[in-house]
Amino acid sequence: MPDDTHTDPSEVREIRINPVVPAESVLVATARSMRPKKAEELAPRDTRKHVETCPFCRGNEHKTPPAILTWPETGDWQIRMVENLYPVLGDDRSQAGFAFGLQQTIDGYGRHEVIIDHFEHGIAVHEMAEPHLAALFGVYQARMRQLFESDPRLKYVLVFKNFGPAAGASIPHTHSQVIAMPVVPENVDAEVKNSAAHYAKHHHCIFCALIDEALTFEATIYDRVSGAVRRKINVGQYVVERGEKFIAIKPFASRYEWEVHILPLAHQADYLDVNGEDLADLARVMKRTMARLDAVIGGAQYNFFLHSVPHDSQQQAHAPSYHWHLEICPRTSIPTGFELGSGLFVNTVNPEQAAERLRAVELQDGP
Ligand SMILES: [Zn+2]
Ligand SMILES: [Zn+2]
Ligand SMILES: [Zn+2]
Repeated sequence: MPDDTHTDPSEVREIRINPVVPAESVLVATARSMRPKKAEELAPRDTRKHVETCPFCRGNEHKTPPAILTWPETGDWQIRMVENLYPVLGDDRSQAGFAFGLQQTIDGYGRHEVIIDHFEHGIAVHEMAEPHLAALFGVYQARMRQLFESDPRLKYVLVFKNFGPAAGASIPHTHSQVIAMPVVPENVDAEVKNSAAHYAKHHHCIFCALIDEALTFEATIYDRVSGAVRRKINVGQYVVERGEKFIAIKPFASRYEWEVHILPLAHQADYLDVNGEDLADLARVMKRTMARLDAVIGGAQYNFFLHSVPHDSQQQAHAPSYHWHLEICPRTSIPTGFELGSGLFVNTVNPEQAAERLRAVELQDGP
C-alpha cells in the first residue's frame, strides 16, 4: 500500500496502461461520482442443489444431446460434456467466407460445446473439492487436445465460464463452454504479438517478467521538485495466492475491480503442456482464489477464460514469448456508456487495495 501522507491513497485517479496490450488501458478512479452500477442491483444467482426441470441436472440426461465425454467414465457422472444446443459456431455448413467491400466475413466453422462442471446444480467453484476441480481442468485439456488433433483448420480453442446471471450465464446450472475456431480471437492475437515484440527486444517473456516483478520488485517514486517520497510501490502487493507451481496476481491495470489472473510460475506457452500432477496445484490455487473473491464480493459472479498459445503456423515461434494464463473477471458492475463509447475500462477500486483485501481473507484449509 502506498505510504504517501500527502493524499488519501484510497482516492486514485489515473490511467494505467496494460503492460502486455498497451492499447488496452484502464481508468482507475475511486471517486464516488465515477461509480457505475452497484453489485446489489445485479440479479442473484441460483444456489439450489438439484432442479427437477434443469436439463443439466442428473436424471435429465435425455434432455441434452448425447455426452461427448464424462468423468468418471463409468458410474454416476460428476462432469459431463455435450454439444451446445444453440452453437455460435458449427461444422455442418459449407458456405465459404465472403468479402464485400470493407465488410468481410469468415465462415463460422468450428465447434461449440458445453461442459457441465459438476452434478450439483448451483455449486460455486470454491465449493468444489480440489480433486474435482483438477479433473475439470483435465477435461478442458483433454478436449482441447482432441479438437486440435481432429481438424488442422482449428487454430484456437477457447475455454471459458460464465457464472451467474450478471456474467451472462443463460443456464443457471454451473457449466463451462468450449469454442473451437478457425481464427485467433483478437485479444489473444494482441497478447501473442505484443509479447513476441517484447521478446524480440528484451529476450525474455513479458509474463515471466511480470511474475518476477510481483514476487520481488519494489519501487519508490520521488517528487521531482521537492525530492520527497511521493509513492512507494511494493509490487509484491499484487500477489493474491501462491502455490507450488501457480500464482494468482491482481493485474496493475485491472479492467475489472476484482480481476485476478492465474499463471504457471515456470514459463509455459501451451495449456496442453501442463502435466497431470500440476493440475492439482492449479486446482488448489483456483479454489483458494475463488474463495477469496467470494468472501470479499459476497457471492462472486464472473467470467473466466483460458488464454493459451494459438495452434497456428506461428505456434513454435511464439513458444518462448507467450505464457498461458487464466483470467478471472468478476462482474460487480455493468459497463456504462462512457466505457462502451470510449473503450476505456473504468475501475473504481484501487488494484493495490483490492489485492490487500483479497489476501486478508482467512481461508479454512480443506480438500
Ligand atoms: Zn441443474
Ligand atoms: Zn513466461
Ligand atoms: Zn490473456
